[in-house]
Amino acid sequence: MSMVVILLGPPGVGKGTQAVRLADSMGGEHVSTGDLLRAARRDGTELGKKSKELMDAGELVPDDLILDLVRDHLKGVAPEASILFDGFPRTTAQADGLDRVLEEAGRRVDKVVLFEAPDEELTKRLSGRRSCMECAAVFNVSFKDSEVDGICDRCGGPLIHRVDDEPETVMRRLEVYQSQTAPLVSHYENHDAKMARVSADQPADDVYRAFRTALGLDWA
Ligand code: ADP
Ligand code: ZN
Repeated sequence: MSMVVILLGPPGVGKGTQAVRLADSMGGEHVSTGDLLRAARRDGTELGKKSKELMDAGELVPDDLILDLVRDHLKGVAPEASILFDGFPRTTAQADGLDRVLEEAGRRVDKVVLFEAPDEELTKRLSGRRSCMECAAVFNVSFKDSEVDGICDRCGGPLIHRVDDEPETVMRRLEVYQSQTAPLVSHYENHDAKMARVSADQPADDVYRAFRTALGLDWA
């Protein structure tokens, strides 16, 4: 069964971890706009240059740039593939844009899953997060560290603490989430797609189980 799913929730809630795990298990496409933007920065593209300062400050990249990025990326995705959107949409304008892009492809958002955890937990996770510069894998010094300090288990690339995971920027990202992204919760409550809530304030395996249940998937 092929589906289009949006993983909604604040920074640090674990959307990426859950999206990767589910995409691996069902052979779907994980589309993280944060990862795509960081790739654009590494490649030194125009988009990468325009995004750098905003991202490092914890602000959002403008909607039109994000929508172009997503539309472009979806050209390389098989029309029947399941898609898991992570970190996108982040504004109601992006949500409307996504509906239009999907409609052009004869698809629509099937399900929205909202991941929730208290701010203290989010801040703790982000301050311990280490990200691979090569493959975007994430680790956490306080509960899921890499085998070798500073080296990615998956690809051997260098692990860094993202500039935007520094405490002041994390506070700003949480504010930006509250003001610009949280309105999507009521937006999707009134949308054809069905929204489910999952508590992310529990061990990753339990979150994964609840996530699958929310999507009506059984044990794989
Ligand atoms: P996290 O999942 O921890 O919030 P992301 O990797 O999703 O981090 O995003 C990092 C930064 O990239 C954001 O703070 C923002 O500047 C930018 N970004 C990512 N996705 C979007 C988006 N859909 N719209 C606007 N900006 C985005
Ligand atoms: Zn890696």
